[in-house]
Amino acid sequence: MIAQNFEYVVPASLGEAVSLLEKHTERAKILAGGHSLIPMMKLRLATPEFLIDISRIPELSYIKEDGGTLRIGALTTHYTIETSDLIRRRLPALSDAAGLIGDVQVRNKGTIGGSIAHADPAADYPASILAADATIVALGPRGERQILASKFFLDMLTTALARNEIVREIQIPVKSGKSGSAYLKMAQKASGFAICGAAALIELDGSGALSKVAIGITGVGSHAFRAAKTEAELKGKKPSPEVLKKACEQASDGVTALDDIHASADYRLDMARVFARRALEAAIARTAS
Ligand SMILES: Cc1cc2nc3c(=O)[nH]c(=O)nc-3n(C[C@H](O)[C@H](O)[C@H](O)COP(=O)(O)OP(=O)(O)OC[C@H]3O[C@@H](n4cnc5c(N)ncnc54)[C@H](O)[C@@H]3O)c2cc1C
Repeated sequence: MIAQNFEYVVPASLGEAVSLLEKHTERAKILAGGHSLIPMMKLRLATPEFLIDISRIPELSYIKEDGGTLRIGALTTHYTIETSDLIRRRLPALSDAAGLIGDVQVRNKGTIGGSIAHADPAADYPASILAADATIVALGPRGERQILASKFFLDMLTTALARNEIVREIQIPVKSGKSGSAYLKMAQKASGFAICGAAALIELDGSGALSKVAIGITGVGSHAFRAAKTEAELKGKKPSPEVLKKACEQASDGVTALDDIHASADYRLDMARVFARRALEAAIARTAS
């Protein structure tokens, strides 16, 4: 199908983009990498009359660290994240996630801001973003707003972002001490989207016990979630295979799982338990490197 007619505008700055979005709020959409929005428009699931193309705004594409915080600009592509040495050192789970997204074309055009704003229930980043306790910085006509990742992903294709706000930056607190993180997924064969993806981020204390455990799971429910019971069960314990296996039995407790042609709800719930354990094992293994 062909998208409905639309007007195409290319703001030169973030400020201009915010003004345009405010002016046309109900009829406009932000265009970043276009790898979710354009397919939606071709299917007429999205019918914006104004496309505000922010992809050429240079101030939105960067990865840097300052004051104990990793800062990633919204327009940073999946490929740039996948290949960033800084991210590989600070949050390897996010490099893993970026490298597993779609194919090389998708990774070259798609952006982290576009992915989290779109909030596909099977997207890869949300698991790591949640596990890392990230903050999403949104810019609107009344200035900036910080949204905790735990309050950002609300439902399928639904976030806490207002219609007149643009994701400007993702902020991630940098871990100190003996920490490790990893993201693993079971991909749907045709699209590569997650049937189940799990990100684990851990810290070990001097005795080898888990002083911090965070697990984010995507692909299973209508939006990504934290495996809170498993995290609570593991905190303060030494992570033996038996301890991990038992704790991960609770990884999808209380979750209403998606049920579609790719996987049944029961299968997804089961894979959440399996991938939570595998991601934890991979994160723990990385503390040795
Ligand atoms: C063949 C294919 C395979 C894919 N496989 C995967 C996969 O395995 N895993 C995965 O996670 N994803 C996958 N994707 C999706 C891909 O990661 C997209 O790039 C991503 O979801 C959207 O990013 P984008 O920059 O392309 O955003 P766009 O398509 O430009 O925008 C998506 C939505 O976000 C809004 N938006 C964009 N940027 C901002 C911003 N800064 N602030 C506010 N709103 C904004 C837009 O208005 C739109 O509603 C796949 C896509 C394709 C086409």
